[in-house]
Amino acid sequence: MPYDLIVIGSGPGGYFCAIRAAQLGMKVAVVEKDKTFGGTCLNIGCIPSKALLHASELYEESGHLFDKMGIKVGQPKVDLAAMMKFKDEGVDGNVKGVAFLFRKNKIDTFQGAGRIAAPGKVEVKTADGKTETIEAKAIVIATGSDVARLPGIDIDERRIVSSTGALVLDKVPQRLLVIGAGVIGLELGSVWRRLGSQVTVVEFLDRILPGIDNEVCRQFQRLMEKQGITFKLSSKVTAVDAADGKLKARIEPAAGGAAETLDADVVLVSVGRVPFTQGLGLEEVGVKKDNKGRVVVDGHYATSVPGIYAIGDVIAGPMLAHKAEDEGVAVAELLAGQAGHVNYDAIPNVVYTHPELAAVGLSEDDCRERGLQVRVGVFPFAANARARGMGDIEGEVKVIADAASDRVLGIHILGPHASDMIAEAALAMEFAASAEDIGRSVHAHPTLAEALKEAALATDGRPLNL
Ligand SMILES: Cc1cc2nc3c(=O)[nH]c(=O)nc-3n(C[C@H](O)[C@H](O)[C@H](O)COP(=O)(O)OP(=O)(O)OC[C@H]3O[C@@H](n4cnc5c(N)ncnc54)[C@H](O)[C@@H]3O)c2cc1C
Repeated sequence: MPYDLIVIGSGPGGYFCAIRAAQLGMKVAVVEKDKTFGGTCLNIGCIPSKALLHASELYEESGHLFDKMGIKVGQPKVDLAAMMKFKDEGVDGNVKGVAFLFRKNKIDTFQGAGRIAAPGKVEVKTADGKTETIEAKAIVIATGSDVARLPGIDIDERRIVSSTGALVLDKVPQRLLVIGAGVIGLELGSVWRRLGSQVTVVEFLDRILPGIDNEVCRQFQRLMEKQGITFKLSSKVTAVDAADGKLKARIEPAAGGAAETLDADVVLVSVGRVPFTQGLGLEEVGVKKDNKGRVVVDGHYATSVPGIYAIGDVIAGPMLAHKAEDEGVAVAELLAGQAGHVNYDAIPNVVYTHPELAAVGLSEDDCRERGLQVRVGVFPFAANARARGMGDIEGEVKVIADAASDRVLGIHILGPHASDMIAEAALAMEFAASAEDIGRSVHAHPTLAEALKEAALATDGRPLNL
């Protein structure tokens, strides 16, 4: 019997879409080429990186902070194999959870690479070479993304690694060279620095974390430098020589000029990700892609071919798990005749270092570019009672509000637990809150979240603890 919906790919976009469609009464099949469900996020992305960030942060704290708090544990040691096992257990629990959810929601799963043979028809090729064709009224492409590569730098996932290899190194590299100061490079650079590597980050642009508020990023960079990460901005790695068992990276100024050589034990190539559509048969079936290889969709996630939809990293927009998830839910609801919708103005973005950096909405730079008149309120964690009590006072909250209407346009948090606090900011933006609304909401004391309330009051020049 044909399905109502076939989802190709079981990452956050695909599995959320499948579950929501099943909840809405559709008969759903999921096709996944990998051995486990959950896609990049659960297997080689969000979850394993956060497990290593968590473990390495505790290791660092136990070495530096515990003593100050009066906790005597002696000199901590890293057992890397055990740390990797801890990470793998986290991944395993999560991917099994997705398999359980598929069963619970009566979703049929097909293990193999899916190819769209025609609208409504997906051919699944299993690892042993067998093929099977399944049919549905609608197909959702949720095939995600792959590592972006640099010409002339061959990733072997041992010494020249992508994020995938950087999550499974079997020893702490003495010198780690990170190419690209985006979120993945900074998170994994932080992990290995905490575990003992000397980390140098080379970035083509003159700033780190493009897209996030520049002033906040400059503070963030200073904190990363204080922790021991070296940055080479406006520079590019043009080659990595891997002869003689040593890695020698050639680094040139982005604007051209004399090159220098940097020795490294491991090079991490983290220059972004590219949409993954290999083997899907999009050209044959007529699904259009843009000049960056992303599947082109309209406001309802419909591709250029009727009955074929696409969501997540494979289409335009920020490559984030929660963006893929919400698009998965939206397209399922649209297929069921409901009003599925994603508010792209309120998608939080988080860097899970310490301190964490989290942002939602517009940066000051964005507002300037758009000619918006704004009021900006900043509140430092140094003036927050809870942060003081925790001895974790670096960073600030910045609230940007429209000067005339007071509507919140953006919130940026650099500080401890920013990833949790940004949820309040996203909710405020989703409900079109004013800075006054946040400033007048009662926040529990003592909490880090009070810094957000104070920053909102600061847009009107009336913070209470500053
Ligand atoms: C190291 C790292 C850390 C990250 N950390 C975060 C984070 O903290 N927060 C965050 O929001 N995002 C993070 N991301 C990004 C996040 O992982 C992606 O945005 C998210 O996984 C995209 O979801 P998706 O469903 O679009 O695609 P994916 O998760 O990439 O899933 C696509 C799935 O489709 C399958 N597939 C592809 N082609 C076929 C085919 N032809 N047939 C069958 N199956 C196919 C793939 O095997 C895969 O399982 C991180 C990424 C990396 C690499």
